[in-house]
Amino acid sequence: MTKAFASQADLIEKKVSFDKLSDNAYAYTAEGDPNTGIIVGDDAVLVVDTQATPVMAGDVIRRIREVTDKPIKFVVLSHYHAVRVLGASAYGAQQVIASEDTYKLIVERGEQDKASEIGRFPRLFNAVESVPPGMTWPTITFTGKMTLWLGKLEVQLLQLGRGHTKGDTVAWLPQQKILFSGDLVEFDATPYAGDAYFEDWPRTLDNIAALEPVALVPGRGAALRTPEMVRGGLAGTRSFVSDLYASVKAGAAAGKELRAIYKEAHAALKPKYGHWVIFDHCMPFDVTRALDEATQYPDPRIWTAERDRQMWKALEG
Ligand SMILES: [Zn+2]
Repeated sequence: MTKAFASQADLIEKKVSFDKLSDNAYAYTAEGDPNTGIIVGDDAVLVVDTQATPVMAGDVIRRIREVTDKPIKFVVLSHYHAVRVLGASAYGAQQVIASEDTYKLIVERGEQDKASEIGRFPRLFNAVESVPPGMTWPTITFTGKMTLWLGKLEVQLLQLGRGHTKGDTVAWLPQQKILFSGDLVEFDATPYAGDAYFEDWPRTLDNIAALEPVALVPGRGAALRTPEMVRGGLAGTRSFVSDLYASVKAGAAAGKELRAIYKEAHAALKPKYGHWVIFDHCMPFDVTRALDEATQYPDPRIWTAERDRQMWKALEG
């Protein structure tokens, strides 16, 4: 039996959790669906990643209003993926902040990514008609590091290296050692690496580990609430990325074709990671990008709805 394209057969709604990590930090998670981080300062609220549509963001806002009535002034985009950014309009924030690299990726490939992601995973775009036309544009961009003071609460936005995308940004509360990682770190969820930099990703995880977070909100999966859980999340993400890239590089070095490399990588990784959510969704995209990086494409090629289908047919057809 052939697998349905990407996650078109994934229709089961997930249960949302809204966890308090400190007086200033909350995690909106949903059993492996994309997470949103919430930072409550003295005078304003900052949201890290928005959910996929304004209607879905409305549920985040409802949870925020259960713990604070402070205005939601800032939206931070950890990276450019549609499932993270297209809910932004719901918050009515004064500023939408992203790295300069993320801004450039939205210019370069935002429209194609939007069409591609909605086609891959319709359930994740609940009430997609509520998404305004066009792109979600950052109103402030930065390079490397930016600090916001929400009253006495310091919030650092940091680019610690490339990994999940070229523009990856984490939000860091240095006074409390709490980190919001975006998709650089996943927990019990398969890292999507279709736009990734495999060579860089482990080093970027080292840079996160060097901050010694005591709690971490991953891109997908439950909030990591102890240093031990944080280390586990970092180690799991690192081993998946490293194992996949090693398998693909070995196949490439042996002169094998993409389809054969994919079948081998899938078989090699399934025993260890097959129980993570979206494993079967991610693997074809991840292996395709890994082979690109191992051979002739230092930067990820743009995924379009059409390229998605061709690739899926070639590997799973
Ligand atoms: Zn992503």
